[in-house]
Amino acid sequence: MAPTTAILKELTALLGTDSVLPAAAFYLHDATESRGLAGRADAVVLPDTAADVARTVAWCYERDVPVVPRGGGTGFAAGAVPIEGGVVLGLERLRHVRAFDPLLWRLHVEAGLPTAEVRRLARESGLVFPPDPGAAEQSQIGGNIATNAGGPHAFKYGVTGAWVLGLEAVVPPGELVTVGGPIRKDVAGYDLKSLLIGSEGTLGVITAAWLRLLPAPEASLPVAAFYQTAAAGCEAIERVLGSGIVAAALEFLDGATLAAAGRSFPGGVPAGARFLVLAEADGAREEAERVRLELVEALELDAARVERPADPRDVTALWRWRDGVSIAVTARLGGKVSEDVVVPLDRLREAIEGTVEIGARHGLEACSWGHAGDGNLHSTFMLAREDVGALERAEAAADELFALAVRLGGSISGEHGIGWTKRGRLALQWAPRALELHAEVKRAFDPKGLLNPGKKI
Ligand SMILES: Cc1cc2nc3c(=O)[nH]c(=O)nc-3n(C[C@H](O)[C@H](O)[C@H](O)COP(=O)(O)OP(=O)(O)OC[C@H]3O[C@@H](n4cnc5c(N)ncnc54)[C@H](O)[C@@H]3O)c2cc1C
Repeated sequence: MAPTTAILKELTALLGTDSVLPAAAFYLHDATESRGLAGRADAVVLPDTAADVARTVAWCYERDVPVVPRGGGTGFAAGAVPIEGGVVLGLERLRHVRAFDPLLWRLHVEAGLPTAEVRRLARESGLVFPPDPGAAEQSQIGGNIATNAGGPHAFKYGVTGAWVLGLEAVVPPGELVTVGGPIRKDVAGYDLKSLLIGSEGTLGVITAAWLRLLPAPEASLPVAAFYQTAAAGCEAIERVLGSGIVAAALEFLDGATLAAAGRSFPGGVPAGARFLVLAEADGAREEAERVRLELVEALELDAARVERPADPRDVTALWRWRDGVSIAVTARLGGKVSEDVVVPLDRLREAIEGTVEIGARHGLEACSWGHAGDGNLHSTFMLAREDVGALERAEAAADELFALAVRLGGSISGEHGIGWTKRGRLALQWAPRALELHAEVKRAFDPKGLLNPGKKI
């Protein structure tokens, strides 16, 4: 690899001074910063066009320089952190809307458009882009696709990949390819689009996407039910499914999460509450009201309090509070190691209780919250930011947590991906031959291993 000054000089000659910067701190970390992770880079490139993304990748590929694609930098797996140096390729200037056909429920956007903008555009035309990951103002649609992000409403509507009709991406050695497009079905060829979705920048750089939209539901009516124990809350969650209720979202927060985030809960948390189930009914108004009634009936047994906000402002306030839970938990001690394991729904209670037990064994406050309906927990170990010993214990606790998830029949990641922080851990849940195939896919796309090295594999 050429020295930093030569890389900067040559890339500047190729792309212009406006598009190439020396490595600034902002581009060297992501949302794992509170666990002390930061990388190093020789240059940051901010291309204006997909063609410039292709030129950058081609330049790097020819000279054996690693390339790390970067969206909004909100990832929780250090996927956008440049661990091995090289070039950080920021997509933030690729934010054009290439086409919007509301009457065909279809949107064609560049990868750097913030998630919240995609959702706003759809909403303004009476449509909805259902994926709703928490950091929507900062994250980009390209980053959401690269991590196959979820969110509360993935329970009914599925994760980001379910809404991608086609992708434009730059793949090694620097070529722009298109898979899928403005079409709703496509079974020609192996599913390269799905390989790129969730590939965390290790197979290609996504430059644009065709997205599928839906007419927005007329009404969205949440229900918040508080319980005194996790056992009562988990039974209520299973009752919702067992009753055949199709909720739009089915979330939970355990006692320690409520202690960290509950102070700002709209209307306050009832005394003695140690578990919250947050569900939502949506659809045409009459249908949403019927489903909400069914939700209340399923949730009220053993509940300390059940709330059903109806005013749209109260509904917005409730979901805004839910969006802030992760930040409130970080604020409790200043830092956290937060994972995203998945378990079969009937093992949720064991995973919630197991998280607290693992934390206690390592001398750490632990909590979990997340997408109960999907069995997806944000199991979290809290720590003071500068406490190096606690950080080491939290990393060890996370390893025990992954083992627990796999033992319960689950997965080490339901949302954030493998990135850097979970590298090597896929072996916990996959057989050697499956791991070999995984590595072969990487080699087929990126024979030199220069795209986001050290991640995912
Ligand atoms: C407060 C908070 C709440 C969150 N809530 C959720 C949630 O509910 N659900 C959820 O799933 N996640 C959640 N996350 C995690 C994070 O927001 C998601 O992983 C998000 O999809 C990352 O998008 P980004 O644009 O920030 O990507 P980055 O963090 O910049 O990158 C993530 C990965 O994608 C790759 N990448 C980024 N852009 C591209 C591209 N254009 N082409 C190829 N590769 C690319 C990077 O190399 C990296 O490996 C949350 C994070 C925070 C801080």
